[in-house]
Amino acid sequence: MKIRFLMIGGILFGVAVVGATALAMTNEAADRLARDIFKQLIEINTTDSVGSTTVAAEAMAARLHDAGYPASDVQVLGPEPRKGNLVARLRGTGERKPILMICHLDVVEARREDWSMDPFQFIEKDGYFYGRGTGDIKDGDAILVTTMIRLKQEGYQPDRDLILALTAGEESGVANGVDWLIKNHRDLIDAEFILNPDAGDFELEHGKKLLVGIQASEKLYQDYGLKVTNPGGHSSMPGKENAIYELAEGLTRLEHFQFPFELSDVTRAYFAEEANIVGGETGADMKAILKTPPDEGAIARLSAEPFYNGRMRTTCVATMIEGGHAKNALPGMARANLNCRILPGHSPDEVQATLEKVLADPNISLTQRVVPGSGLGTNPLTTLRPDVMGALEKVSAEMWPGVPVVPVMDAGASDGAISRAAGYPTFGIPGVFMDVDDDRSHGRDERIRVSAFYEGVEFYYRLVKALSSGQAAAGRGNGE
Ligand SMILES: [Zn+2]
Repeated sequence: MKIRFLMIGGILFGVAVVGATALAMTNEAADRLARDIFKQLIEINTTDSVGSTTVAAEAMAARLHDAGYPASDVQVLGPEPRKGNLVARLRGTGERKPILMICHLDVVEARREDWSMDPFQFIEKDGYFYGRGTGDIKDGDAILVTTMIRLKQEGYQPDRDLILALTAGEESGVANGVDWLIKNHRDLIDAEFILNPDAGDFELEHGKKLLVGIQASEKLYQDYGLKVTNPGGHSSMPGKENAIYELAEGLTRLEHFQFPFELSDVTRAYFAEEANIVGGETGADMKAILKTPPDEGAIARLSAEPFYNGRMRTTCVATMIEGGHAKNALPGMARANLNCRILPGHSPDEVQATLEKVLADPNISLTQRVVPGSGLGTNPLTTLRPDVMGALEKVSAEMWPGVPVVPVMDAGASDGAISRAAGYPTFGIPGVFMDVDDDRSHGRDERIRVSAFYEGVEFYYRLVKALSSGQAAAGRGNGE
């Protein structure tokens, strides 16, 4: 028998490790450990300007080593000294393909003078944890590291490898860790599907749990550059050619164009659940668009709401414009940026072909701008996997009976868009309930509820087990 001594939340525990019969960590010990890790992460600055995700990744690697992970299964690697990513693996029996959990370590900039407190000091006050990254998304990092440590220490043997990747560059868009790992170390992170706490919505309103929203699908972000060039000339003698007018006319044609209405099984499931939650005329319209054929009037009414419109079709909108070079010269050039959010199942090339047709002007050139994830492929249609949905519904029903599980498609901003484009089904599951009217991510005095954080610790522990112990297919209502 080997006795290991572990520092957990400042309290010394003696844990007897005997193969697979090691002692399980109590919920209280897990909470203390998670809080300790959370504090440590918040107090390591991981901003793009002066911070380092490498420091945070190394700190988490040290914790995993201390918990018994061999050095060969925990690595810190990245393209630049300050942009390190952690990859760790809990080995399973190999019956099924691994699960990968991704969560970013970097945070948005935070200036001390904008905040009521030091953004890089972890503060617990009035039922909240404060600090930059408490909501986006060091809470997720802390929960996932705690889960990995807890499973290791209880000698848990999953039926598949569990891989954790804590990454750089999600917020700033440079050296994106998910993009980099997929392109350079695919073997290290290859998995059947991915869980990402940094997407989806577990919603609270005035303390009441509204819904457990799983982001099962995401639109693809794609910018297009539009450009018109012509010879220009003296503005005292304007002729027919004018780059500004020509571009403006093209943009006007785009303004009046609407991509077709289209639902996937994810958005169908979303509108079916959302109809019951919002009720009234809007709820009735949501039910009407699910019919075959869908109700055209209902589509038109819901399309008038940008929030719903973006869930029913690809959208493109002009976001920047520039042109000309002097007040007294005909413009030789005019260009604009068109920002598109592409529905799953469609590619940037396909959307470009549609845009060219609508522009109907060969003088307007159209180019795709490169963003992280570019070149990885298209945006595949995600299906609601019964194993993932079954496990989520089971754990959710155990912990929060009566709260509906709602699949959602986001407008596209998370690392999941990159991993999906690379072919990995990716599910955004935060685990932590957030107040719908108190989302301070990227803002001042960022915070999350203490109770929601601890529920997230328990939730992820149960979810990961349900997905790696052959119980996933049990589904709703089947207790252990
Ligand atoms: Zn984030």
